[in-house]
Amino acid sequence: MTEVSAAGQGVERQYATHLAQGRFMIQQCAACARHVFPPRELCPHCDEDQLAWVAPSGQGTVYSTTTVARKAEAGGDYNVALIDLAEGVRLMTCVAGMDPATVCIGMAVRTQVGEGKDGPRVVCVAIAGSQG
Ligand SMILES: [Zn+2]
Repeated sequence: MTEVSAAGQGVERQYATHLAQGRFMIQQCAACARHVFPPRELCPHCDEDQLAWVAPSGQGTVYSTTTVARKAEAGGDYNVALIDLAEGVRLMTCVAGMDPATVCIGMAVRTQVGEGKDGPRVVCVAIAGSQG
């Protein structure tokens, strides 16, 4: 088979293309219906190659959080967090828009595409009212 499909571009590049267009996309396996992230060529659950891009709900929960110390002139301390999305996948990102030290495990967040110094990236923001 010599057919060149969009999949031939490599999933990392496809992911980056979506992100550049302001869309955070994950994959869903047509064979077992499970969601996949980070992007893969084969489903890690069933080894099928029927992965399609889907837009996640964006709803997530903080699984773990760390404050990384950084000099104020470099932008100050920042947050690194593992977020469990409602789709059952985990991603490493940061919770933006709040003091990094106040991000806590179990906090409800939603994903959004923000601008990083190396281009668009996925960040999370707290869902208002979720902190009790
Ligand atoms: Zn699968």
